[in-house]
Amino acid sequence: MMHCFACKSGTVKPGRATYVVERDGHVAVIRDVPADVCPQCGEEYFAAATAQVLYDQAERILAHGSEVEIAKFAA
Ligand SMILES: [Zn+2]
Repeated sequence: MMHCFACKSGTVKPGRATYVVERDGHVAVIRDVPADVCPQCGEEYFAAATAQVLYDQAERILAHGSEVEIAKFAA
């Protein structure tokens, strides 16, 4: 397990995170994203492969043009 880079005191643990991105007044919320989470400060770390899927999914959601759209992580 790795130490948290943000608070430098917590040890991150595997968990689930919610990813939120806002652009041009549109908000995409993606839930249930596998992540390493710091119990100390709440910082979330995504694996590179997860981040790739996550950003692609966020792009597709933002392209819909909804004001707010909530989705589950689609691995
Ligand atoms: Zn931390």
